[in-house]
Amino acid sequence: MTPPPDKSAPPIRAVRIEAKCPGCSKPGTAQYRPFCSKRCADIDLGRWLKESYRVPTEEGPEDADSEGETGRNGVSGQDR
Ligand SMILES: [Zn+2]
Repeated sequence: MTPPPDKSAPPIRAVRIEAKCPGCSKPGTAQYRPFCSKRCADIDLGRWLKESYRVPTEEGPEDADSEGETGRNGVSGQDR
């Protein structure tokens, strides 16, 4: 005798993603998920871009010109 398939598994349901607006903690809307409005999305995006633009390079590559030629004279493998 074969027992009937166990149907105790929970039904697959669409998981509702609760997204809170990172700006004001309000429930986000589907249009501007996870933000609640375009304003909050813009604010966050602007902040994100600002941090992304921060490049930790302050010194220009102008002084690296004379240093690039040093060590080019140490080639002595094909002498013969
Ligand atoms: Zn918001």
